[in-house]
Amino acid sequence: MPIHLIRGDITRVAPDAIVNASNADVSPGGGVSGAIHAAAGPGLAQAGASYRREHGPLSPGQVAITPGFALPARFVIHALGPVWHGGRAGEADALASAYRNSIEVADEYELVSVAFPSISTGVFGYPVTLAAPVALDAVDAALAAAQHVRDVTFVLFDEVTYAAYERALGEMEDGRRGGCADCRVSGNDRSH
Ligand code: ADP
Repeated sequence: MPIHLIRGDITRVAPDAIVNASNADVSPGGGVSGAIHAAAGPGLAQAGASYRREHGPLSPGQVAITPGFALPARFVIHALGPVWHGGRAGEADALASAYRNSIEVADEYELVSVAFPSISTGVFGYPVTLAAPVALDAVDAALAAAQHVRDVTFVLFDEVTYAAYERALGEMEDGRRGGCADCRVSGNDRSH
């Protein structure tokens, strides 16, 4: 499976693009955005500001792409995830869109490898146990449709976040095997 999980700092990895959990203004924020802007240098904030001037603010689920400046990654994809409002305000759809649109723009740029943080599960308050399966399903589906993107790594900063994604990835793989498990169960039923 072309989806990998590692624990670490996304500013240190060198795929074709890293994804930033951006704010609507594509400007430096706290959390992973602060770390990415600090490592990229001031060019990234300038590129974000010129995007904002030209296109207006991002809506939840939308993305912008800029160069990576001093980062090891060539590009930064700035994705706006949803703020968690309890789960009935379209949060899952917006989160899935943030991942799907990130892979789609990477594919338009003919990029092969993309690294994601856990979008929305920090300051934006999306519970990570709910966000992880949405993120993995969205990436899995977008990868199946992509022409160029082949390799997605989730770079997860803390143990709790890593554990939630590890579990969700295991469940996604078990779900695939589930079809065959059902076949075996019905086979057993017939033999009784
Ligand atoms: P959001 O506002 O979308 O919730 P945050 O930046 O607050 O974004 O948090 C998103 C996730 O990024 C959290 O799991 C946080 O621990 C993680 N994070 C913070 N710094 C880094 C980093 N340098 N590399 C990877 N992930 C990070």
